[in-house]
Amino acid sequence: MEREGERPSARRVAYLFGDPVAHSLSPLIHNAAFRAAGIDAEYRAKRVRAEELEAAVASLREPYALGTNVTIPYKQAIVSYLDTLTPEAEAIGAVNTVVREEGGRLRGDNTDAAGFLHGLDAAKLRGAPTLIFGAGGAARAVVYALLTELRPETLTLAARRPAQAEALAADFADLDERGVLRVVPLAEAAAAVRQGQLVVNATPLGMHGNTDTTPWPDASDFHRGQTVYDLIYAPAETRLLREARAEGAETIGGLAMLIGQAAASFVQWTGTPMPTDAVEAALSSRFSSGADHGN
Ligand code: NAP
Repeated sequence: MEREGERPSARRVAYLFGDPVAHSLSPLIHNAAFRAAGIDAEYRAKRVRAEELEAAVASLREPYALGTNVTIPYKQAIVSYLDTLTPEAEAIGAVNTVVREEGGRLRGDNTDAAGFLHGLDAAKLRGAPTLIFGAGGAARAVVYALLTELRPETLTLAARRPAQAEALAADFADLDERGVLRVVPLAEAAAAVRQGQLVVNATPLGMHGNTDTTPWPDASDFHRGQTVYDLIYAPAETRLLREARAEGAETIGGLAMLIGQAAASFVQWTGTPMPTDAVEAALSSRFSSGADHGN
């Protein structure tokens, strides 16, 4: 972790830059991981105002910094202050992780695609016709992961604003070599929901504070043989997952993705794999204590 010629006296620090950041689970995840891995480092959530972003990024060039996670509203704005981007960040068009490299150079990455794949059984779902609800930032990472790894037979985006989904599809046209991406208005997605072997919720419908909502109220469209994956992790089982499970579908909640994206940041900062057992234990004691766990 310590680079040749750079002997930082201060404890190493990784950050979360965003606004707001107070309810993030990332400090709990990364500090549990640093402790369990025996790494003398600390993770700090830092609320950054728009006018402070440039200086906050510049501070990451100091030797004590490992890097930062980036959350709303800076995942795109931060790109102009970085030196390089990984192919994932470039294709997704957003950065959620910055890594300080030797000499203070800053590399932007997006680990949400890796996090998404961490949650599912790739061997089982390779090629599976897939439907995604939503066309925002998380949907972009999911589309990247699907086009580059699972290679679905069809990939349908169901969005309330089809123009947003069309723009996403256009941005991924180069990666969509087989022309599998298509767009349907959310209200007209019934056939694609029934045909989807993998159905992904990348909208906030059903999350903490709105737990009675779902992107797809017609639960009879779900069935055995499907996997329904909700990116939301609070609550652990959303209305969508509860109803799909009742119809015989397999379900996946967003916690595995949350841990997977964190693990993909951690290993880049430290060179050490994240001790995910310790992270899961820390998260389950937080969840069972009933503490606030909003994003
Ligand atoms: P985002 O960029 O704001 O995109 C949200 C998408 O959902 C947009 O397409 C939005 O459409 C749509 N949407 C919002 N409200 C809707 C409604 N009432 N009806 C229909 N569509 C609606 O957000 P994001 O960053 O992609 O995050 C999406 C979800 O994924 C959040 O719940 C987030 O917590 C979760 N997430 C989880 C992880 C994880 O690690 N588990 C990682 C990233 C994100 P409009 O543009 O028309 O509003």
